This record gives sequence, C-alpha cells and structure tokens, in this order.
Amino acid sequence: MSLLVQKYGGSSVANIDRIRNVARRVKKFKDAGHDLIVVLSAMSGTTDTLINLARSLSKTPLEREFDALVATGEQVSISLLSIALHEMGIKAKSYNGNQAKILTDHVHTKARIINIDPSTIQQDLDDGYVVVVAGFQGVTDDGAVTTLGRGGSDTTAVALAATFGAEECQIYTDVDGVYTTDPRIEPKAKRLTKLSFEEMLELASLGSKVLQIRSVELAAKYNVPIRVLSSLQEEGEGTLITTEEEIGMESAIISGIAINKNEAQITVLGVPDRPGIAFDLLGEISSANIEVDMIVQNISQDETTDFTFTVGAVDYDKAMTITEATAKRIGARKVLGNEEIVKISLVGLGMRSHAGVASKMFRALADEKINIHMISTSEIKISVVIDTKYTELATRTLHDVFGLDQLEH
Ligand code: ASP
Ligand code: MG
Repeated sequence: MSLLVQKYGGSSVANIDRIRNVARRVKKFKDAGHDLIVVLSAMSGTTDTLINLARSLSKTPLEREFDALVATGEQVSISLLSIALHEMGIKAKSYNGNQAKILTDHVHTKARIINIDPSTIQQDLDDGYVVVVAGFQGVTDDGAVTTLGRGGSDTTAVALAATFGAEECQIYTDVDGVYTTDPRIEPKAKRLTKLSFEEMLELASLGSKVLQIRSVELAAKYNVPIRVLSSLQEEGEGTLITTEEEIGMESAIISGIAINKNEAQITVLGVPDRPGIAFDLLGEISSANIEVDMIVQNISQDETTDFTFTVGAVDYDKAMTITEATAKRIGARKVLGNEEIVKISLVGLGMRSHAGVASKMFRALADEKINIHMISTSEIKISVVIDTKYTELATRTLHDVFGLDQLEH
C-alpha cells in the first residue's frame, strides 16, 4: 500500500480530545493499509508561550538556546499522539528532529534542511509502525537543535514526503482547503479543488496563511503533491496543490485574490533625477536587511522625480528613518509615509493566455471610486496598493467581477 505523510497543525492537536481525534483518523488510514509518517506542530499557543518565556529573560536570547526551547512544543505533541495511538492498538513511535535525522544548516530560527537520512524511519515503517515526527525542528552536524521558522512543520512534512516518495503530503488544518479569498472578508469565497504550485506560491507570499511558503517551494522542486484538508471534518477532498500539467487545460483565469495588510508605503518627492538615485534610496534600505516589495518611479519633471516603494509594516519605522536621512543627503524635497495601505492581488495561471484582466480589474475598482496608489504585475499576478479602508469593498467587488463564487474550480 502507499505511503502517506500527514501533517496536523497546532489547532488539530490543541487539546487531549483533538489529539484523540487525530489518533482516530490516523488509525483509519493505517487500518486501510497505508504506511504513515505523521508530522505534528506544537499544541496551539505553545510556541508563542515558549517564545515569550525566552523573551522575558532576554531581548536577544542566545539563538542556540532559543531553538532548543521552542522546539520542545512539538516534542510534547508527538509523544502524546504516540501514546494515544498505542491506546487504540496501533504501533507508533515518536521522533524528534535529531532522532529523525533531519540535518539542517546552522542558521538558528530559520534553518534549512540539508538532508534526511531515511534508514531508521524506513526500518520502523517496514516493521509496521506509524512514525510520528516533530515538525519545525532539525539538528546541525554538531548536534545543536535548530528550528525552521514559524509554520515550519509544513516544510518538515514536505521534506519527509520527498525523501520517502510519499504518494501525497496531506496538510490537516482547521479549514477544509485553500479558498478563492479570505472568507472573513468575502463570505462567498469558495474552496478551490486544485491549484498549481506557482499559484499557491503567489497566494502564500501575498498573505494567504495556509502553508509556509518554503514548504510550497520544496514541494514544487521535488514534485510532491500537497493536499490541504480539515482535521475536523470526516469527508472532503480539500485542495490539491500540484503541477501545472496535472491541472491541465481547464485552469481558471483567476484562481484567487490575496490580501496583504502587512505593508507600508514610503514616497520620496522631488528627487533629483540622475543616475544612481534608485540605488541611493534603496541601497541603504537593503543594507539594513529590509525587504522592499513594490517600487514605482515617476517620469521626471523639471529634473526631479517622485519615488515610491513599499516595505513590510514591521520595518516601516526603521525604513522611514533611513529614507529621511538619505533624502536629505541627496537633496530630495520631502518624504511621505503611509501605513494605511493594503495590497490586493489577483492570481491565476490563465492570465498568461487571457488579455484584459488588468483593465477589467482597474475598471471594477474605478467604478467603486477606489483610488489605486501603485500597480505591479507578473506573469500570473496583478497587484494594486489601495487604502486599507477599501479592503472589503475591493475584495468583494473583484471576487464578483471575476465570477470567483461561480466558477467550478
Ligand atoms: N509550532 C511552530 C509554530 O507555531 C511550527 C508550526 O506550527 O508549524 O510556528
Ligand atoms: Mg501552520
């Protein structure tokens, strides 16, 4: 029978009843003849609690110890699930990152997996065990515990699925799939049945929070189909994330609308228009390790130009300070900041072959008198920056105009 990797997130193992629920589900698959590797997150809230404990002692906790601490959450849930499985008569064994031989680099708090040595786990699978692995953690070549970044259990699951050639990597969470947009903003949002890796990457990086981005990158690289499912529903096919070829010709023009409220906009007015200006303004920002997302430079008038870019909201204050200093140095007139912005993006493979998506989007927004501050496009995505207060209106309007509540996805 085939091998499945199943990952259960924090809300799926939030308490003893939920852990029993997971055990019951795992038993069902095991009884049906599947081999199973189960990857768990920490019980919900645990990782945050552990992080706060470390921060209450130090603003900059030693990274080695920080990782050793926050990795303990997953070790609790894997042991509990293994105990629950035993109670149901299923052989199960828990593995922390070190025991599972998940070798990572030395970059604490956001380590990358280098290699997984399959020997021990394979032996246990062959002996009929359900293998229960702690997500989010690995080990360095010199034995230090590392963690893979928030939400990293998804990446653990995909890496294991790739290593063991699993038929599918099932990600169980508290929603039953990936939606056309955030259902809290547009109640008519629909679950997508299929989505390409590329679309999911755009949706994930644009603010949809279902999967850690790195897990999708890894899945695309190793061709691991991911299925997002609810651990609280008995039935349901969830959303399958797979290759473009799998999805075939019937891909929708637009698959989803991503909403990102975590950016802020900085505009520099009256910038002397000469070579090197973009580098002057953005070089300092990137030296401070601040990521810039959208960039717009206007056509110059009277030898000066305006320059606008967006940064993550968390970096806004720092970016403003830097930009004000640079503006002064290069003789720009003024710096304006705006934190009340949202980036709304349409994503869809079909955009490649259909003209007119952008104009349809702009017209819909214009009809609602929504002013667009910035626009950026890529092959399968169009993003606009607008005022935060229009988030709901813009999302619902676009959802409607592009028929996302009607399409058979
Ligand atoms: N427990 C970790 C977190 O909260 C990893 C995960 O849940 O995937 O980020
Ligand atoms: Mg998660």
